[in-house]
Amino acid sequence: MHSATPYIGRFAPTPSGYLHFGSLLAALASYLDARHQQGRWLIRVEDLDQPRSIPGASEHIIETLACYGMYSDGEIIFQQDRLTTYQAQIDQWLTTGQAYYCDCSRRQLAEFNGIYPGTCRHRQLPAAADHAVRLIAPKQPLTALDRLQPPLTQDLATATGDFIIRRRDGIYAYQLAVVLDDIAQGVTDVVRGADLLDSTPRQQWIYQLLGQPLPRYLHIPLLLRADGEKLSKRLGSTPLDPAQAPTELFRALQALAQQPPLALRNANIAEQLEWAIAHWRPQQLSPTQNLQQDSLFD
Ligand code: GLU
Repeated sequence: MHSATPYIGRFAPTPSGYLHFGSLLAALASYLDARHQQGRWLIRVEDLDQPRSIPGASEHIIETLACYGMYSDGEIIFQQDRLTTYQAQIDQWLTTGQAYYCDCSRRQLAEFNGIYPGTCRHRQLPAAADHAVRLIAPKQPLTALDRLQPPLTQDLATATGDFIIRRRDGIYAYQLAVVLDDIAQGVTDVVRGADLLDSTPRQQWIYQLLGQPLPRYLHIPLLLRADGEKLSKRLGSTPLDPAQAPTELFRALQALAQQPPLALRNANIAEQLEWAIAHWRPQQLSPTQNLQQDSLFD
């Protein structure tokens, strides 16, 4: 843990859609947590999956965050600019035998139900651009600790099996890139949506292999739509309208259980943020309760 290290947090959006209310909550929670602890806060664009990236989405996300008073304290990193770093790490693990090539077809993988049984682990497949690369899972279970969620223990060998760090289409896996980037940027605190809790043990395994200290984690509950579906870019949630920023920011603080005083409803962005930084209490969030969007609206 980094108790003596200055706080560095980040928001790491994927530009497969515009910033919507659900992603605003993750951005705001990470920002408030950083500022409350006099920390730095970075924006990193996770544009690994180019075919799924929407042109203009990165700019829209960065500009919308600015409308909400949130600016990166350092250069904004784009993962597309870091591909050689990801490949270098993969090459190293291929050399040491901690990773291997896999040519299992989609059909084969479907039979495994998401838990890879290690089919290609000992096949010594040669390098090929259209082979996936998998990282060998640890034999011992890992426990992810969180400031809000109960501890999550996962035995990766049975929960996921050896997992993909480069896909067959050559795209580097989120699990790998997120850890390499958080390490490179000195991130001490990861604040993000609870949909990523399940990924945390895989990421912890990568930290462990690299001999790096773990960040602290805070996974905030997800915002659900009235019909129970997760709000996401894929579901076409409405992009935020910058003209509505003060109103939306107030709603976001309510959604994050920060109980802003009603007088703050008509305040500008700077005033709302100032109050929210001073009063940030993530423990007021309930770990399991999903944030219902409907209850937030008038
Ligand atoms: N890029 C990921 C997403 O948009 C978030 C990654 C993270 O915060 O670890 O879901």
